[in-house]
Amino acid sequence: MDIPHTMKAMVLEKPENELKLKQLPVPEPGEKQLLVQVLACGVCRTDLHIIDGELTSPKLPLIPGHEIVGKVVKTGPGAMRFKTGDRVGIPWLGRTCGHCRFCLDQKENLCDAPLFTGYTVDGGFAEYTAADENYCFAVPDSLSDAEAAPLLCAGFIGYRSYRMIDESARSIGLYGFGAAAHILTQIACREGKKIYAFTRPGDIKAQNFARELGARWASGSEATPPEKLDAAIIFAPVGSLVPAALNVLKKGGELICGGIHMSDIPSFPYSLLWEERSIKSVANLQRRDGEELMQVAQKVPVKTRIIPFPLRKANDAVTLLKQGKVEGAVVLEI
Ligand SMILES: [Zn+2]
Ligand SMILES: [Zn+2]
Repeated sequence: MDIPHTMKAMVLEKPENELKLKQLPVPEPGEKQLLVQVLACGVCRTDLHIIDGELTSPKLPLIPGHEIVGKVVKTGPGAMRFKTGDRVGIPWLGRTCGHCRFCLDQKENLCDAPLFTGYTVDGGFAEYTAADENYCFAVPDSLSDAEAAPLLCAGFIGYRSYRMIDESARSIGLYGFGAAAHILTQIACREGKKIYAFTRPGDIKAQNFARELGARWASGSEATPPEKLDAAIIFAPVGSLVPAALNVLKKGGELICGGIHMSDIPSFPYSLLWEERSIKSVANLQRRDGEELMQVAQKVPVKTRIIPFPLRKANDAVTLLKQGKVEGAVVLEI
């Protein structure tokens, strides 16, 4: 196909400002890179933290977006994993160094010198993007471009958080019922887990949505569930949920914090942690989590609910997500 010289992109020039529609040169794929025509790109809460300046070291100016589904239109020197025409997904973890202690231990999510898509390298709020082929994924055929996009971060982080919990856990609380929780609920219910959904207080629509997807029980985050839980995952960036969630865990219960950013955690009595309860955070993703989720998503099969926006309306998409009243995932169709 003919690749144009320039493309439309939504660009962040300065944190705490709106994205601007720009005409930019189409990138040239470098060593082991793919040039991808973007078909859909999800808008993730992390994008809000970047745009609002809560994540403090973005490349500037920046094309945000790290839940990218697109078509390979050109391969760079040495790129062998995919060919022109293949559909690929591009996630948050854009590249790792390959030689630090963490990379050598297959814990590349903790790499000392990583690059992040839509944060330290340009992402998918654009018609084209270039990505390192070793961090790209094949996308299951069961999902359309827009439906698959939320898997690339919300899905991966949700799945990694879930897999951190001991397999024997039966009852799992999810705090914050957005894109990640709506994907994870489908997978966990399929595996026989009992899901308890905690939403913003009074958010009846989100509670109904959670029940529709299979949650046993859904209520505001202040509520006490009918039984103590084996584990909980916090997706909402709200530090006060940490003591609240510890309070509903059984002895030995595991609490996983799935977000990249959270407000400060208030102090709490040691008795909430006592009896071998634990708190752990999840950082980025390992490629094997991604490969596994793509297979599981196909098998379940996961159905994502999306709210589509055109590229030039990216600021409206960001505003909607910020208001928090989203059932499912916000996706730019490009
Ligand atoms: Zn490394
Ligand atoms: Zn994300």
